[in-house]
Amino acid sequence: SDQPLDGAVALVTGASSGIGAATARRLARDGSAVALVARRRDRLDQVASGIAASGGHAVAVPADLTDPERAEDAVQETLDRLGRLDILVNNAGIMLLSSALHTSVEEWDRMVSLNVTGLLHVTHAAVPHLIYAASTSPRQVADLVNIGSAAGRTVRPGSSVYSMTKSGLGAFTESLRQELLSEQVRVSMVEPGTVDTELVDHLNETVWDASRRQVAGIEALRPEDIADAVGYIVTRERRVAVNQMLVRAGDQT
Ligand code: NDP
Repeated sequence: SDQPLDGAVALVTGASSGIGAATARRLARDGSAVALVARRRDRLDQVASGIAASGGHAVAVPADLTDPERAEDAVQETLDRLGRLDILVNNAGIMLLSSALHTSVEEWDRMVSLNVTGLLHVTHAAVPHLIYAASTSPRQVADLVNIGSAAGRTVRPGSSVYSMTKSGLGAFTESLRQELLSEQVRVSMVEPGTVDTELVDHLNETVWDASRRQVAGIEALRPEDIADAVGYIVTRERRVAVNQMLVRAGDQT
């Protein structure tokens, strides 16, 4: 049967859990072959077999994206194994919340090295291939989707550096969008509110409690809700460019 992304190849970072895994499944269902990038190989293999079981095609590409060489290799490996690159979803990210006074600077470095530096290295390696895909695909367009956060707009105590990485991503996305317009590469950002994923598992207990209190009584979004947003963006026809989507939980302030 004809799917909107038949013949396309997508690379999803952070595809071993949460929003990335759901997005990979969604793009595969829409007909795209998918390269799954993250560190945990066992989890990537699980996502890949799930996709295969539903009739899709996915390959696991284990990589720590904070290593610039691995970030570039992950893009090249996708090209080698799947032949092209039509869609890049920059989703891998970590959120370590803590007050600036009490945090270790090492936590800040970890966030910046993945949410910013890792994302930049993947993007730099991928863009030439996206441009080529746009010029050769029947869709006549390629897509780069960055996963930002509502925390890039609504800043709270403890979110300083996390919010900085996500709000800076907004600036990067908008500049790149304008630069790549004439190349038929659409660049967009999806900004999720509270989603039920493993993201908060990396918080220390105190911050975890505080962040749970903040969302107490709110039904969190599911990873599939954000995958829907990404799926919507990349399946639009070439004349449509959805630049930004802010998707909060229904009861979220
Ligand atoms: P998860 O923790 O479930 O997913 C994070 C993903 O990033 C995992 O696949 C993880 O895989 C991967 N990752 C972490 N470190 C690295 C690394 N060094 N190299 C490669 N991959 C890495 O959380 P979410 O699904 O929630 O997060 C996805 C994105 O959504 C993030 O950018 C997050 O900031 C954003 N977001 C999430 C919200 C939420 O409420 N959950 C709200 C707003 C935005 P592995 O550990 O195997 O490497």
